[in-house]
Formats: sequence, C-alpha cells, structure tokens
Amino acid sequence: MAQALVLEEKHKLALREIALPEDLGPDDVRIEIDTVGICGSDVHYYTHGKIGPFVVTAPMVLGHEASGTVRAVGAEVTHLAPGDRVCMEPGIPDPRSKASKLGIYNVDPAVRFWATPPIHGCLTPSVIHPAAYTYKLPDSVSFAEGAMVEPFAIGMQAAARARITPGDIALVTGAGPIGIMVALAALAGGCAEVYITDVVDEKLAIAGGYDNVHPINVTKTDAARTLAEATGGWGADVVFECAGAPASIQTALEAAAPGGCVVWVGMPVDPVPVDIVLAQSKELRMETVFRYANVYDRAIALIGSGKVDLKPLISDTFAFADSIAAFDRAVEARPTDVKIQISLGTPG
Ligand code: ZN
Repeated sequence: MAQALVLEEKHKLALREIALPEDLGPDDVRIEIDTVGICGSDVHYYTHGKIGPFVVTAPMVLGHEASGTVRAVGAEVTHLAPGDRVCMEPGIPDPRSKASKLGIYNVDPAVRFWATPPIHGCLTPSVIHPAAYTYKLPDSVSFAEGAMVEPFAIGMQAAARARITPGDIALVTGAGPIGIMVALAALAGGCAEVYITDVVDEKLAIAGGYDNVHPINVTKTDAARTLAEATGGWGADVVFECAGAPASIQTALEAAAPGGCVVWVGMPVDPVPVDIVLAQSKELRMETVFRYANVYDRAIALIGSGKVDLKPLISDTFAFADSIAAFDRAVEARPTDVKIQISLGTPG
C-alpha cells in the first residue's frame, strides 16, 4: 500500500492509501518521485471522468509528467544506477508489437499510459517503471524541468513531423501549454521566427516573453494577414495547429504558404469540417501528432544545453499534501498559469 492522489470518480479526489505494483522486474527501476506536473488530461479526467473512449470506471492514481531519483534497479538494468536523477516516458508499449518494431511505439494499440484508464499514474512517492523508458537528467536540468520533458516532448514530435528547414517562418495557433512547447521546439528545430495566436492576452504575454516569438491576439488582428505581411505575401512555411478550434483550423489552412506544411497537434472535441480544396490549392503537406516516440533524449539535451528554457512556464508548485488544492487551482485555469506542479521531494 502507498499514499497516492486517487481520482475516485468524476469530481472526487482523495489523497489516500492504495495498492500499487511493488515487484521490481529484471528490466525495471524503482524511482522515488520528486516532481509531477498537472496535465490538461489529468484535469479533464477530474472534471469530466473521461476523455473520448477512456472512461474512469474505478479509482485511478493521476499524474504522468514526472521526475525523480532511481532507488533500485532490476538485475538486467545497465544504463541506470541508484542515485541517478531521471524523468520517465509515461507510455509503455509492447516491445514485440508491430508498432514498436516500426519505431512508432506511440501508436501501439497495446500501449499502457500512466493515468489513462485503467492504468494508474505516478502521483505517489515511489513507482516501478521500465528502465528503457527512464532517462537520466544532466546536472543542469532540475527536477522541475525534468517533469516538463513530457509536455515538451509533444512539441519535439510536432517539430520533427514538420521537417523544418532552417530559417522557416512558423505559425502556432493556440498559446496554451502545448502551443508554447511547440513554439519553443520549432525555434530549437530551426525556425527563424514563430508567430503564435490566442484570444487571451495573458497567455500571449507569456509566449511573447521568449525571443523570436510574436504574439497575435486574433480578436484584434487577422493571423493569416499578419503572416502574409511578414513573408512578402507568401505565408507561413509551417503551421502548427494547437487550439483544436474550428476557427483556428481554418486559420491554419489560410496562413500556410503554398507547398507549406500544417501539423495537426490540437484535438478538437468533435469532428470538424476541413477546407480540403484550400489545402489542395496550395498543395499543403499535412502531418498529425499523437504523443511522441524517440524524442526524449533530444528533448533533455536541448533543455540541458540551455537552448530551451522551460522554467518560465512553471507557474506554481504545491506540496504533495496539497495535491487536491493543486488540482483545484489547475481547474481554475487562470490565464497567467501555464504549468502547475506538485513536489513530493524535499523543498529546495
Ligand atoms: Zn501531459
């Protein structure tokens, strides 16, 4: 039995004892959790009890964005040792699956992902995890930043799918946590300038705090026109749609340059009509993103080198004992909040 933040059912959280796996397999590590970030999906399970086909039907431990310290390693583990500071990939595929063999383990139908029903998450002091999906953090990366690698990995996946050419001009629609992560990954991936849209000035101000990120409030300014003006009438080489709203999906197609690329990152709640002819008339390349695969090492390298600074995105940190208050704060969705984290480690 271990203490954990348990979603009992929709709208009902409890910090209580629950039975969790304790057996350390030969390829596993035991990790003392230090920091866990609250994700939009965690909040959605709390407020709605489901995401698409994934329904909370039994008590489930929340949390999947985590860092910590290795305390024990299985007999076959060679690349990690007790005392190593690490972060973890929350999705574990079946290594024998066709998807895994093809290197696209993120779309393995058998993937087991933390805090996606019925799989427990990691908001508990200690977890068992496969060493293959546990990554050592350099000394320059704090636990708080280590817990940001998971959401940043989605930005990395989007940047990789876009096949950015150095000097590309990008548009990101939506300045939520993922939109900002995508903007930073696009810059790290070679984009010269990134424009980012939203309807909330506070979110745009946070995004615009980064060099070469240019906010556009779409309630006042037309994004496609802004991109046209910035590119001699040509348009954005790459558009990352991160809002999932019908209006921004149309904006993405309008703002893209002929021969450009649109990456669909945002997830519309309901199916959305898409102007195929507009896309065809510019022969746009379209890419989709579902989580990420094989990007953690590069994500950690970018954060460790200082090329990507995620620290300004950590809005507040709560103690583990105050986990429920942390979630209620995340539900508030303050416009100035990007990421709320929970610290299980010793302060400092
Ligand atoms: Zn997440």
